[in-house]
Amino acid sequence: MQTRTNNRKLVSITTGQPAMDGDGVRMTRIIGTQELDILDPFLLLDNFESDQAEDYIGGFPDHPHRGFETVTYLLAGRMRHKDSAGHEGVIEAGGVQWMTAGKGIVHSEMPEQENGLLHGFQLWVNLPANEKMQAPAYQEFNAEQIPVERQANATEVRVIAGETNAGTRGPVVNRHVDPLYLDVTLGAREKFYQRIDEEHQAFVFVIDGEIQIGPNKQLLGKRQLGVLDTGEEVSVSGDDASRFLLIAGKPLREPVARGGPFVMNTREEVLQAFEDFNNNKLMEN
Ligand code: MN
Repeated sequence: MQTRTNNRKLVSITTGQPAMDGDGVRMTRIIGTQELDILDPFLLLDNFESDQAEDYIGGFPDHPHRGFETVTYLLAGRMRHKDSAGHEGVIEAGGVQWMTAGKGIVHSEMPEQENGLLHGFQLWVNLPANEKMQAPAYQEFNAEQIPVERQANATEVRVIAGETNAGTRGPVVNRHVDPLYLDVTLGAREKFYQRIDEEHQAFVFVIDGEIQIGPNKQLLGKRQLGVLDTGEEVSVSGDDASRFLLIAGKPLREPVARGGPFVMNTREEVLQAFEDFNNNKLMEN
């Protein structure tokens, strides 16, 4: 049993591990590693952050997904995505793509730049068993469509999903895990409070600076992910300015069977996904 507190505490910290995916893209995998296999309902979190073209130029050529959602949030750079159903678009800095792969999609995700900084995150959010085979769907919002709530002097919150204490709502709709996805810029010596559904899984990832979390002011540093315990609220402060993601969602508490780009409930369902993909039937079945 995790301890119940009103104000959430940090229970573990991970920095992830270097990984390579797609056509040679270097990144840090933070969730989906041996150290942190899953944070139900979150299956994977990658941080790609480089100003060296050779680290990202290969991109992610055509590959399939089934059974979950991929959430791409860019801080810098441009990525073009294109799928087998003819859907295509560009994600730019400050924009988010929340893609429901559902029963299946084959898509590419390629850098739309030949030099300069590319920095962003991809989060995989699981779908419940009875929603895994739904039709694919997209929710896409550029930076201007994501509300920014200004708090205190230098604190501002980009609300991608969920609702702040002051009532600012993000544009993403997701009834499966009722997610919270906030990008918080915190001013020096300012304090940030956010309600979280008591039983929801929650974590913080520090983009810049160092923050102090909860009643014990536990430290979390740059590029560290902190897992929070249960509780109704989280408080964050810092001596200097910082920036972090706060992400939460309802745990699904279902069996998870992974096979590369497919995440189902059983091994048989994963094997079926590979078979459907090999027979070009990913989107039919
Ligand atoms: Mn993909």
